[in-house]
Amino acid sequence: MTKAKYKRIVLKLSGEALSGEKGFGIDENTITRISNEIKKLNDIGVEVAIVVGGGNFWRGRSSKGMDRTTSDYMGMLGTVINALALQDALEEIGVITRVQTAIEMRQIAEPYIRRRAIRHLEKGRVVIFAAGSGNPYFTTDTAAALRAAEIEANVMLLAKKGVDGVYDSDPKLNISAKKFDNLKYIDVLNLGLGVMDSTATSLCMDNKIPLIVFGIDSPDNIIDVVLGKKIGTVIKE
Ligand code: UDP
Repeated sequence: MTKAKYKRIVLKLSGEALSGEKGFGIDENTITRISNEIKKLNDIGVEVAIVVGGGNFWRGRSSKGMDRTTSDYMGMLGTVINALALQDALEEIGVITRVQTAIEMRQIAEPYIRRRAIRHLEKGRVVIFAAGSGNPYFTTDTAAALRAAEIEANVMLLAKKGVDGVYDSDPKLNISAKKFDNLKYIDVLNLGLGVMDSTATSLCMDNKIPLIVFGIDSPDNIIDVVLGKKIGTVIKE
């Protein structure tokens, strides 16, 4: 049997990662491909918790005139749409899942209950956390760091679309941008590297959660990262 490097992971999937080439909404082929990778992890006994973003529908901070809190709640609802799409794609291929939302919506998902989430993971179910942290002014990256700390995940995986790790400058604008293999959280903050927002970065740093930032465009990257292959950028305390 293939041996995974990590027992329990939190995989952060941005909304964009689920939108494929369209860049907006949901691309069913992309979700199916990602679900097949998650199934492989589930098959080898890795406990997989997923935090989904919502930027493929709405980002609270993008609104010009709207009340920020209202705008953020709209963003959180977008993450729930993504969570249900991912749940459907996973169950279609035989992976048992539970969606837990940080804002109660009992008719469609369980409310977030830490102990229950851990129990699901122990039973081999994939848990999808939706609605971020349930609070405005936060991001789903911060929610992923929070859930990783709460469920004592061994690692947080930040799957990015269009980039394969952390660079010293934007590789799309600067062809000589240098990719980091390893970084410390304090350097991410001091150098102002655009990995995650500073709240998410500090939460990972303070709670000693290792983070791997990698590209989701190449097939099998998720499984390769969990098997311990050197892909992307590893960030530690
Ligand atoms: N959001 C929020 N609180 C949270 C998580 C998310 O208010 O704890 C809102 C916020 O408006 C954010 C949107 O949900 O812009 C979508 O989340 P995010 O931007 O993190 O999604 P991603 O960029 O990962 O797709």
